[in-house]
Amino acid sequence: MRNLLRVARHTRYHAMATNRSSTSQRWIQLLGGMLDASSAYKVSPHKQVKCNLCGWSGKHFVDFHVGYDFVFKKSVCPECYSHPRHRSYKYTLDRILSEYDQEAIRVLHFAPEQIMTELLLGNPKVEYLSVDIDHRRAMRREDIKNLSFKDDQFDLIICIHVLEHIDNDRKAMQELFRVLKPGGKALLDVPIDINRSSTYEDWSITTPEGRTKAFWQWDHLRLYGLDFPDKLRAVGFKVIEDNYILEKGELFIRKHGLESTTSYIGTKN
Ligand SMILES: [Zn+2]
Repeated sequence: MRNLLRVARHTRYHAMATNRSSTSQRWIQLLGGMLDASSAYKVSPHKQVKCNLCGWSGKHFVDFHVGYDFVFKKSVCPECYSHPRHRSYKYTLDRILSEYDQEAIRVLHFAPEQIMTELLLGNPKVEYLSVDIDHRRAMRREDIKNLSFKDDQFDLIICIHVLEHIDNDRKAMQELFRVLKPGGKALLDVPIDINRSSTYEDWSITTPEGRTKAFWQWDHLRLYGLDFPDKLRAVGFKVIEDNYILEKGELFIRKHGLESTTSYIGTKN
């Protein structure tokens, strides 16, 4: 088949180049066109996926296994191991960082994802600090419920998929609001069950199995519902519901393997 394709293509191009056309050549031209069309379908750039973080492209992203029985199909980049949410945040961060016109943008990053750290460190305008409750996982140890920083310190706070792990999430939100500069932005996304109007907590569920079943992951302490932005507003944030990725459309989302959800950005005025 491959040889036939090559012959058909070669003959077609040869016939076109020499501007000669016999019946057999026309037939071969037609066949070549059909084969081109079918092979073009297989290798068309529109049918490929592309990682916006490392530039890798291929037929599909690879599966990501959570525990033994849950798989996010075709979600992780085989080159840089980015997940859909990391690739989505590339767009979010690029947009937000381009909005700042000052010389230095002070960024505080909780539970840092390595690939986002690299992205931020690569930006000469960014003054970057990563923190975590575990000092081995960041540049500095900080307790999100009792931060050591003075008020109004950071232009941008990145705290993604963290609050669902914190017992007193209201205290954590208050601290995030306190250290954010007026006019600053905070990326505060958490997993949200869009079928729930209000957040589900049950402190009697303490086993990893029970939490996985109730809250989607063994170390989650609650399952947020659509009231999540209200919780942010309750501690003082104004909330931007950012639908940039959704508005880019299904083809774009599929091509770059993005997370197609609303993103919540807290601001302080
Ligand atoms: Zn990648």
